[in-house]
Amino acid sequence: MAQCTAQAQSGRRCRAQAMTGARYCFWHNPETQAARAQARKKGGFNRRRMAGSVAVSIETPADVVAILADELGALLGRVEAGATRARAVGALCSVVLKALEVGDIEARIAALEAIQCQGVNGYGR
Ligand SMILES: [Zn+2]
Repeated sequence: MAQCTAQAQSGRRCRAQAMTGARYCFWHNPETQAARAQARKKGGFNRRRMAGSVAVSIETPADVVAILADELGALLGRVEAGATRARAVGALCSVVLKALEVGDIEARIAALEAIQCQGVNGYGR
């Protein structure tokens, strides 16, 4: 697939893929103006419906994993399977893996620090 030939607001060339048989991506193609307007309207509707916020406390990588696990569950339950959902799930999973990795490293450091403290206190070094 070819790259979109439109210029983005930044002055650089748009980095999106051009639509099949077109010079422009979905967002720059003059022929998809009506579909874009509909997508924006739908997005606005979805945002209104999701209005309101919940206090979230994130202090450890485990907190991040718990939130992302909830989000993954909601995503899998609400959104029909498809390329968009697959991309979202992939992105969330990669962040979960990173958070788990960070949590593992923190646990190892804590274990090493505990051993070092034992050495200092227990053996007088
Ligand atoms: Zn474009």
